[in-house]
Amino acid sequence: MPFATSLRCRKCGQEYSLQSIKVCDFCLSPVEVNYDYKAMAKVVSRERVADGPFTMWRYRDMLPIQGEEVDIGTGFTPLLKADNLGRELGLDRLYIKNDCLNPTYSFKDRAVSVAVTKARELGFDTIACASTGNLAASVAAHASKAKVDAYVFVPASVEPGKLVGVAIYNPKLVTVDGSYDDVNKLCAEIAQKYHWGFININLRPYYAEGSKTLGFEVAEQLEWQSPDCVVAPAASGLLFTRIWKGLQELSMLKLIGPVNTHMYVTQAAGSSPIVHAFEAGSLHVHPVIPNTMVTSIAIGNPADGYYALMVARQSGGGAQDVTDEKAIEGMQLLAQTEGIFAEAAGGVAIAGLKKLVDAGVIKRDQLTVVFITGAGPRTQEIVANVVRPLKIQPNLESFSEALSISA
Ligand SMILES: *Cc1c(COP(=O)(O)O)cnc(C)c1O
Ligand SMILES: [Zn+2]
Repeated sequence: MPFATSLRCRKCGQEYSLQSIKVCDFCLSPVEVNYDYKAMAKVVSRERVADGPFTMWRYRDMLPIQGEEVDIGTGFTPLLKADNLGRELGLDRLYIKNDCLNPTYSFKDRAVSVAVTKARELGFDTIACASTGNLAASVAAHASKAKVDAYVFVPASVEPGKLVGVAIYNPKLVTVDGSYDDVNKLCAEIAQKYHWGFININLRPYYAEGSKTLGFEVAEQLEWQSPDCVVAPAASGLLFTRIWKGLQELSMLKLIGPVNTHMYVTQAAGSSPIVHAFEAGSLHVHPVIPNTMVTSIAIGNPADGYYALMVARQSGGGAQDVTDEKAIEGMQLLAQTEGIFAEAAGGVAIAGLKKLVDAGVIKRDQLTVVFITGAGPRTQEIVANVVRPLKIQPNLESFSEALSISA
């Protein structure tokens, strides 16, 4: 028995049935899934969750789906106590939520599995998305599992390594000669003309809900408490708002106490409209033209930017941007302290965390969770210059010589 009751406009409150819809017809604001929390609270318990599968579907009661899940094994990724990195940064209670360890190597699988499950319920035989790469891979993989057709649209500038990780699932891969924001605009037009389920456009309200499971998992893994501080990267801002919503829902359902988490959003300096708005004390997120190599979060006109801004403000959190150079240093620091090879978005989160600690904003004793949302091996080009081997002949002498030079 699903507890989702309707879709509701976040701005004007207009309600819609649980259909496919892009934005509110009246005010063009995002719509979001609305639940009967009273009924949900009667069913959901810590024990019931604990009895569930070791995937994101242990929170199925809190997701807006009815039919059989399109599941490729997503979620319940490790929450690691990061003592080495913590020592390096000056934090005693630092944890890493390692969402590299999803089937297509990013947190997108959480959002997509919910949206594709819903797409199948709504009768779509073709799914599609506008993507900077990670979403395309996830949509294509889920289309294979769900046995539906997939069209995935990416900017032509996407790293070649990422395209292999998309094309292997054999979707219709379309590269568009333009920026991600151009791709997104085009896809909104395509969605009007063709009756396709666009995962991050007309199925966006469902896509959004999948990311809540990151908040659920972290709280459960901390033995049912919410952290003092959360640090996460943002592109459209959706993930960031949904970690927060996940924590709020757990509190509403009395699975955890009141949420006093400070939410810190991080972006690459070359594409940081949410951080700009935060720093300017503005209510308006002004679009920018992205200029960063952190392509997975290079969205200049973030659809949920306003809401991400509100979450950062209302939670007593903050916003931090970092240069590409610092993001790469962040990737290396994470790899060299905790053995995790994240993609550049992870580097942004780590470098952002470092700046926040250095500035005294996040304090040593605060229980802090940093979200690593995607894996590094797909965008190796970015850090290719770390490869500096000792070059030797196959004999001991040559090795000894090389060793003495390098030491
Ligand atoms: C998509 C993505 C994000 C940001 O997601 P939004 O919900 O659009 O803010 C962060 N990290 C990685 C690795 C991503 O692929
Ligand atoms: Zn509205």
